[in-house]
Amino acid sequence: MADFLEDTQHYIGTAVKILDLSNDVERQLITPHREVRVEITIRNDDGSIGTFTGYRVQHDNSRGPFKGGLRFHPHVDSEEVRALASLMTWKTAVADLPFGGAKGGVQCDPHTLSQNELQQITRVLTDRLHDVIGDRQDIPAPDMNTNEQVMAWIFDQYTKYHGYRPGVVTGKPVALGGSVGRSTATGRGVAMAAIEYLKSVADTLEGKRVIIQGFGNVGTSAATALAHHGARIVGLADESAAFVNPQGIDPRAAIAHVHEHHRLKGHSLGEEVDPEAFLLTDCDILIPAALSGVLHRDNARDVRAALIVEAANGPTTYEADRIFAERGIPVVPDIYANAGGVTVSYFEWAQNMQLFYWDEKRVTEELQKVMTRSFASVRALATHHRCSLRTAAFVLGVGRVNDATTLRGVS
Ligand code: NAD
Repeated sequence: MADFLEDTQHYIGTAVKILDLSNDVERQLITPHREVRVEITIRNDDGSIGTFTGYRVQHDNSRGPFKGGLRFHPHVDSEEVRALASLMTWKTAVADLPFGGAKGGVQCDPHTLSQNELQQITRVLTDRLHDVIGDRQDIPAPDMNTNEQVMAWIFDQYTKYHGYRPGVVTGKPVALGGSVGRSTATGRGVAMAAIEYLKSVADTLEGKRVIIQGFGNVGTSAATALAHHGARIVGLADESAAFVNPQGIDPRAAIAHVHEHHRLKGHSLGEEVDPEAFLLTDCDILIPAALSGVLHRDNARDVRAALIVEAANGPTTYEADRIFAERGIPVVPDIYANAGGVTVSYFEWAQNMQLFYWDEKRVTEELQKVMTRSFASVRALATHHRCSLRTAAFVLGVGRVNDATTLRGVS
């Protein structure tokens, strides 16, 4: 995962140069405020003891409380969490939300754990972190392999120490103070990002052939929203299988299958293809919505998409990004394209702080405003500096964080 961190720092470095900031400022922007590593011990269902390592990296809070997801995955390590925390800082700044950036994770394989074991891991993690998280301090949210239920456990465990503070986590069930529209927000935001980009080149989603890698929270909601706006889903992949179908796949049928069987395999959605070859399928829009680093120097030259919209965090390595630039394949970058999730998390947090709840229409309208306004800012900078959308997004994010840091002063 060292490459992911290096790539992120490279993008920050490019933005720092364009903004003509000093090396000291660059060092300050790269270095996380705080990194916490914890050991989590639980009693497994078979009576044995299980131990897991958890991380929380709080990258920057100059614009507001630290904010970022929590993932459960075997690949989680300190470097990956550090890179993801940094991306959150730039993402909240690009969307102009009053938050900083953080990320957390537990190195575990959730597929081998029972609900009881997952609940214990979550509660012990909360015991270890409760005094460094909070609605004015650091606000976790769902990410890979974590969901509303995990957020509900964190909320409940935190309440035992600090009383009723629903804003301590976002992505909660609506029954516990979650926001309507949060669970689909990241995917809907991805569709809005694709539409904004296409609008900027006088095009629309109508009839566009889309392939999506990753069919969890983000992939399913992106597929639904894209199909709703006229796109044709011609390929879907998850951890279990990859399918291509030029006639189009009905996302509703695929989602119903995944709800029942927890994976795509076993459903005849089209031709089953090799997962590596899947990413090279001829299509109009490729949406990586799973892991980081899946588009890299060894496959970037063979990608046959006309446009890439990054729903996952860090799916394109720095080298692949350069290859796409050379090949004239535009990339709508993660720190803008998947910001819909943290944007509706912000709405959830605002509702929790006021204990006043919005309807779905208002959530959608406000989300649309943020996605439209942020794209306009990114695009204006890309035009002004004659750079890629990714570089422009980093210039926007780094510039805003630097402004806040400078105004606060060094103490
Ligand atoms: P999730 O756990 O709900 O789903 C992950 C999906 O990826 C599953 O379908 C899984 O089978 C698939 N997957 C895992 N490994 C794979 C592989 N090797 N090949 C193909 N598919 C694979 O996670 P999610 O919340 O949908 O997150 C997906 C991505 O979006 C992550 O990069 C996450 O950081 C990013 N993201 C999530 C949110 C959010 O609100 N959940 C917000 C912003 C960004």
